[in-house]
Amino acid sequence: MRISALLSRGAGPSELVDAELDEPRSDEVIVRIEAVGVCHTDLHTRGALRERPAVLGHEGCGTVERLGDAVDGLRVGDRVVISFASCGGCAQCRDGLPGYCAWASALNGSGRRLDTSPTIRVRDEPVFGAFFGQSSFATAALANARSCVPVGDLPAAVAAPLGCGFLTGAGAVLNVLRPRRGDRLLVVGAGGVGAVAALTALSEGVEVVVAEPVEARRALAARCGATTVASLDEPVPPVTHALDTTGRPEAIAGALAALKPRGVLALVGLGPAEVPLDVRSLMLRGLQVRGCVEGDADPSVLIPELAHRYRRGLLPLDGLVTTYTLADFDRAVADQRAGLTLKPVLLPGS
Ligand SMILES: [Zn+2]
Ligand SMILES: [Zn+2]
Repeated sequence: MRISALLSRGAGPSELVDAELDEPRSDEVIVRIEAVGVCHTDLHTRGALRERPAVLGHEGCGTVERLGDAVDGLRVGDRVVISFASCGGCAQCRDGLPGYCAWASALNGSGRRLDTSPTIRVRDEPVFGAFFGQSSFATAALANARSCVPVGDLPAAVAAPLGCGFLTGAGAVLNVLRPRRGDRLLVVGAGGVGAVAALTALSEGVEVVVAEPVEARRALAARCGATTVASLDEPVPPVTHALDTTGRPEAIAGALAALKPRGVLALVGLGPAEVPLDVRSLMLRGLQVRGCVEGDADPSVLIPELAHRYRRGLLPLDGLVTTYTLADFDRAVADQRAGLTLKPVLLPGS
C-alpha cells in the first residue's frame, strides 16, 4: 500500500516521502492514521539510529482500514489507539503486564517484525519500521491487532497519546504509586507524562506538588490544581509519593529528599544510566524506589478507563496537546524543546 511517511535520518531534518507499506499478515491490521503524538522515545531513537533511515512514531490513532484473516474483535471502520507491541503469550503478558513482555525489545525496537521481515520500504529499500509495532509518523500504519484499542469517537489528538505518554503518566499513578485521598504526590517534570500523572492524581483526591523548570508548564500545573509549583532547585513540602519523569540525577535526589518515611518514588524518565543513591537515608527512612515501563499498564484495560474519565470530564487532556501537520514535525520538536508546547500531536491527514 502506498503511503506518505516521515523519514528521519539521525537528528537532521526529517523528510516526507512516498513509501510502500507491507500487506497485513493474518494477525495484523492497517490503520489510517488521524493523529500521532510525539514522544521522547521517538527523539531518543532517532538519535541512537544515527544515519539509518527510519519511520518512527508510536502513539498512533486512526481508523482500521484493512484486517488480516485471523483478526477478530476489530472491524473495518473501528477507531483505535495503537499502543506498544507485546506477544500476549509470555509470563509477563499473561500476568497483564505487557510492558515487561519477553519479546518487548524485538517487537518495539528492532525496526522489523519479530520474524525480521521489514514493514516499510522507501524507493524499494527497507527502512527501520515497525517502531513500537507501528511506525505511525505516516498516513497509514501496520500494527498487530493485539496492540489496537478501540476508542469510539474520542477526539484523535487527545486519544493518540493514550497509546504511550499519557498511558505512562496515568499508569504510574493508578497502577504503581496508588496514592490515596489525602496523600501528597510530587511530580518532577510536568511535560506530557508528568502533566497527565498530576491530572490523574488530582482526580483521585490526591494533593499534587509539581517541580518543573519551565515557567509556562508551572503555570499550567497551577491552573490544573497543583497546590505547590516550584522550579527544580526550590524546596517542596514533604510528600508521601513521588514520580520522576526527567531522569536527572539531581531531580531524583531531590525527590527522594522530599519523601516522608516509607515514601515511594517511581521512575519513568531515562537519563544517565547510573545515579548516586544515599543508601543510609533509603534504609533508615524505609523508602522505595520503583522503575516502571508504560505505567505497568495493560493498554486494553487502562486506555478505555482513561477514555471514560476524559468523557466524564475527570481528565481534561485537551489543554495539554498542540497539533501540527506531519510535515511540521521538526517545528513541533523545536517548540516542545523550547517549552512552547507540552505534547505535540501530528495530524497526517491534514
Ligand atoms: Zn509477552
Ligand atoms: Zn512513548
